[in-house]
Amino acid sequence: MQKKGCPYGTHRVISPKGVLPQPADVIDNTMEIYDNEVLINVQTLNVDSASFTEIVRRACDGKKPTDDLSAADIQSIKDTMLGIVAKAGKHKNPWTGSGGMLIGTVEKIGDNYVGDLKVGDKLATLVSLSLTPLVIDEIIDMRPAIDQVDIKGHAILFQSGIYAILPDDMPENLALSVLDVAGAPAQTAKLVQSGDTVVVIGGGGKSGMLCLYEAKKRAGVNGKVICIAGSPKSAKRAEDLGFADEVIVADATNAVEVYNKIMESTDGKLADVVINCVSIENTEMASILATKDDGTVYFFSMATNFTKAALGAEGVGKDVNMIIGNGYCKGHAAIALQELRESELLRKVFTDLFA
Ligand code: NAP
Repeated sequence: MQKKGCPYGTHRVISPKGVLPQPADVIDNTMEIYDNEVLINVQTLNVDSASFTEIVRRACDGKKPTDDLSAADIQSIKDTMLGIVAKAGKHKNPWTGSGGMLIGTVEKIGDNYVGDLKVGDKLATLVSLSLTPLVIDEIIDMRPAIDQVDIKGHAILFQSGIYAILPDDMPENLALSVLDVAGAPAQTAKLVQSGDTVVVIGGGGKSGMLCLYEAKKRAGVNGKVICIAGSPKSAKRAEDLGFADEVIVADATNAVEVYNKIMESTDGKLADVVINCVSIENTEMASILATKDDGTVYFFSMATNFTKAALGAEGVGKDVNMIIGNGYCKGHAAIALQELRESELLRKVFTDLFA
């Protein structure tokens, strides 16, 4: 007889008592399912970029995921990840608070689970690893540059947990990389109006490229899309894609530099919409200063700090709308996957980088 579970997974919370699984410090990751849960045989974790960057930095003496990592570095990353899960019952990064998502196969479904899933379905979870009960038996392989980690292990999807069945017209790792950041292009589709000036900070990165595509599609010929890239390498990637009208290399932690460059590029008008897709801290002010009064800043980055954004905007007298990057937005998986079907070029770049 299976035990009765709460749709939001509160029955798995160990501490502190009374909170939901995401803010919880420790959750129960025993893999015996409750009556409304789904057991997933996990194949790959796509660790959130901000989370993975921080794990690598701490585990490998300040290195980045894209650096040359030694066998000892890889072992240290593995130990950190296994340590996180052993302590919390989930892969919630203790420093960034963020998770990521996973792909796997449905192994067992609770007797009272309501939904269309069947045993054997291949899916990507669209709820964060920061709330997903997880057991890692073994880390088999790792692609640090793209935040993907192949494991032997299991996870639990709660009744309220959203997911996407993996499409059959693209490789799984390609779909995984896109679905990881699906909220960003979908929010871009909602926010950008025809004729808008849009700045995508971190536009040469994974979510950034999807946002550039969607922003150009929505802003149209009368709009202007500007990409701020962190390095010449990601700037070249964005330039080759051709979705941005202008690509600028600038350090997003240098708010004044970004402001001056966006002032110059927009004839002093600034942007209607700024989308922050960076993977590092202290980029709130560059985003705010690049936005015109009554404009909108969408903070997709998990490294965003609410206090810095709120007090920072007040401090410079900016009346801008600031949106927290909710990873979920209606139809987000479909919108993100559709971009790869619409743009061969985007699909090629994503395939080369992630699949
Ligand atoms: P990504 O592929 O690593 O892209 C990050 C981008 O930030 C890179 O293009 C990088 O450019 C740029 N960048 C880094 N430092 C910079 C700087 N100082 N100035 C300007 N640009 C800089 O990451 P991603 O997967 O797209 O994720 C982006 C963010 O979204 C992360 O913070 C991630 O945690 C977050 N995220 C949020 C959600 C959500 O639900 N809200 C879901 C998934 C991910 P270079 O490579 O040139 O340095």
